[in-house]
Amino acid sequence: MIINVDDNPAARYIRTRALGKAGYEVHEASTCAEALETVKLLHPDLVLLDVNLPDGNGIEVCRQIKSNRDSAGTIVLQISAQAISAPQAAAALNSGADSYLTEPVDSEVLVATVRALIRMHQAEKELEETNRALRRSNDDLEQFAYIASHELQEPLRDVSAHSQLLEMRLKDRLDSEEKLILQTIVKGAQRMSTLIRDVLAYSSEVRRTGELNPVPLQASLDLALANLAESIRESGARIEAGPLPVICGESMPLEQVFRNLIGNAIKYRRPGGPLEIQIAAEPAGPDYWIISIRDNGMGIPIQYQERIFSLFKRLHGREIPGTGIGLAVCRRIIESHGGRIWVESEELQGSKFLFTLRSAAAC
Ligand code: ADP
Repeated sequence: MIINVDDNPAARYIRTRALGKAGYEVHEASTCAEALETVKLLHPDLVLLDVNLPDGNGIEVCRQIKSNRDSAGTIVLQISAQAISAPQAAAALNSGADSYLTEPVDSEVLVATVRALIRMHQAEKELEETNRALRRSNDDLEQFAYIASHELQEPLRDVSAHSQLLEMRLKDRLDSEEKLILQTIVKGAQRMSTLIRDVLAYSSEVRRTGELNPVPLQASLDLALANLAESIRESGARIEAGPLPVICGESMPLEQVFRNLIGNAIKYRRPGGPLEIQIAAEPAGPDYWIISIRDNGMGIPIQYQERIFSLFKRLHGREIPGTGIGLAVCRRIIESHGGRIWVESEELQGSKFLFTLRSAAAC
């Protein structure tokens, strides 16, 4: 339905007739007050709004329609007088009008413009609805993953603990085949609990809605290095870290990013040579920093460099333990900070993981 607002009866009549002929239900108003009242009462799809009205300005009427929650979704097509069209057209669009036409308005152009605007609006509404439905189903799925992994933990702990107990108690009574069967059960339970722990970490990350504050990245790195102290010592890794900035973020998740990336550099090192890891930061424009973690390990073939950030994607088999969740967690964290993460690498030449974070000043 359309409301046609114009104080000039002849102009109003011509437009109502053209739109009526095109199949639209049209109601009329001739003043600002009448226009606002009719919009409130009839909830039209579109308001055709003349700028010059006897009791005020159509641009102000448009502003009121668009600022009211009940009518904000109504399309406003403003019609400005030719003599002062440019400033009026700009003012109309600035006050929220969806489009404008300048006098004299050709009836065919009017009908085509109305059709196009309604079509666009319809498409926008459908897109919004689809987005809402997608967000809802995504939330449901994420909640499901969280609850499922949470609930699975307890029975799995029972399986794990009791199979280990059985292994200990029956140690001397089982033949070698039976021992192997039991070992497979114990290993399977252990692997499953690692998987569940990581899925839980991933879905907790989704549920996090922390506030971003200025955070010294050095503190997050120090904590990550302390947590990795044992594997750093065992691998003999040499770690060099340049000065790190204060950025806009949350310190615990960023510690997790460092822990996952440095942990991977250690896990996927090249056997034989000494492992070297370099951590650095450089500004990328006034608002961002690029943080990099470079290793001289196995490297990642180019065709996998995007895919490894997806859930459960692994390039290495069981010989190196892992769940394929660590990089997906990193991506979640960095994206929730408004940043981006990627890798540059050549097979057997090492990898450089890079991510952007907003500077503290942009917080
Ligand atoms: P996980 O280490 O548990 O398998 P990630 O999500 O952390 O899972 O990593 C996904 C895959 O990316 C790994 O299985 C490994 O194949 C590859 N990868 C990650 N980091 C490196 C690295 N620094 N060097 C070589 N390969 C890596």
